[in-house]
Amino acid sequence: MAYLDHNATSPLRAEAQEAAGRAFAIGGNASSVHARGRAARALIEEARAKVAALAQAPVQNVVFTGGGTEANALALWGAVQGAAEAGARITRLFVSAIEHESVLSNVAALSERVAGLRLETIPVSPEGVADIEVLRTALREGKGRALIALMAANNETGVVQPVVEAAVLAREAGALLLVDAVQGAGKIAVPEADYVTLSAHKIGGPQGVGALILGAGVPFSPLMMGGGQEQGRRAGTENLPGIAGFGAASEIVASEGSLSPVLRDRFEAKLKHIVPGMIVFGGKAMRLPNTSNFALPGIPAETALMALDLDGVMLSSGAACSSGKVKPSHVLKAMGVTEDSARCALRASFGWNSTEADVEEALASISNLLARLPARAAA
Ligand code: PLP
Repeated sequence: MAYLDHNATSPLRAEAQEAAGRAFAIGGNASSVHARGRAARALIEEARAKVAALAQAPVQNVVFTGGGTEANALALWGAVQGAAEAGARITRLFVSAIEHESVLSNVAALSERVAGLRLETIPVSPEGVADIEVLRTALREGKGRALIALMAANNETGVVQPVVEAAVLAREAGALLLVDAVQGAGKIAVPEADYVTLSAHKIGGPQGVGALILGAGVPFSPLMMGGGQEQGRRAGTENLPGIAGFGAASEIVASEGSLSPVLRDRFEAKLKHIVPGMIVFGGKAMRLPNTSNFALPGIPAETALMALDLDGVMLSSGAACSSGKVKPSHVLKAMGVTEDSARCALRASFGWNSTEADVEEALASISNLLARLPARAAA
C-alpha cells in the first residue's frame, strides 16, 4: 500500500489519536464549572495554545470550528456582517480564481445575497500564481472597502501564493485579508492576516475540526449563536476530542519544522525518466514541498486512478470530489491548461509517514499501467 494523498487528508498521527483518546476518557463539558468541566476546559485551552503556536498568533485569537470549510465560511460571512454592523461596510470582494470551493461558494453566495457587494476575481499566471499586480491596480483604481481572499498554497498544485505581498497591499488600501492556510500549515510558515483558517486533518489531526484565527480588532460577527462558547464567536459545545487531537497534531508539526521536498522531487524526476512527456502543473513556481500535480498525456485520470488503486497506490485527481464525478479542475482551467491535459491530471501528495518505498510502488504501478497501454503515453 502506498498512500500518496495527504492533501486530501493526512493520516491521524499517533500523538493526536492519544490526545483525542484521553479527551474521550475525561469527557465533560468545558462550560461546566465542576471538576470534570474544568478538566475539559484545560484540555481545550492547552490545545488552543498549541494551535496558536503553530500559527504564531495570540492564543485568544484562535476560534475552534468544525473544520476548514466552516472556518472559511465563518471568516467571510463574519467579516461582511461584522463590518456592516460596525458601520464600515465591505463593498468589494476579491478572490483568487484558484481558491478552494469552500471560499468560492461562499463568496458567490455573499455577492448574490448581500446588496451592494461586488465580486472580482484575481487571475493566476500559467504557473498558478495569483497576479498581485491585478489586485494592486484594482485596489488603487476602485472605491469602497475591500475583503481579499487569497490562499497560502493551492491544494491541487501546491503552488505557494503571494500572501505577504497581498497583506502589504491590503494594509495600504485599508482592505481586509483572508488567508486560507489549510494546505500551507505544517508545510510552510502560517502567514499573518486579518483572518487565517486551518483544518486539523490536513496536518495529521482528526477530521471535522479546524480554526479561524482572527486578527486583533478585525470586524467579525458570529454565524452560530447559542451558548456563547468560544467567547461568543462560535457557539456550540466544543468538540473536545477533536480539539485535543488538533492541538497534539499542531504541536508535532510545529516541532518538526518545514517538510522536506526530497520524496516529491525524486518521484517527479524518476517519473519524467519513465514518461518524458509528463507535464508538471505549476512545476516552475514555488510549491509546497509535498505536492505534485502532473499529467501523463493520453491517460485519463480516472483510468490511472483505478489502475493504481488496484495496485494499492492511492493518489487523487486534483481535488477530492465528494460526488464522485470527475470534472476538470477550476484551478487548472484558471492556469490556462487545456481540457485534454486537465482530464489527465493526477495529484500525488506526500506527508509525515511517506517513504521511499511509497515512491517506488507508485512508479512501479505507473510503469505497469504504461506497459498495458504502450501506444498512448509514450511521448
Ligand atoms: N481549504 C483548502 C485549501 C482545502 O484544501 C480544504 C480541504 O480540502 C479546505 C479548505 C476544507 O477543509 P475541511 O476539509 O476541513 O472542511
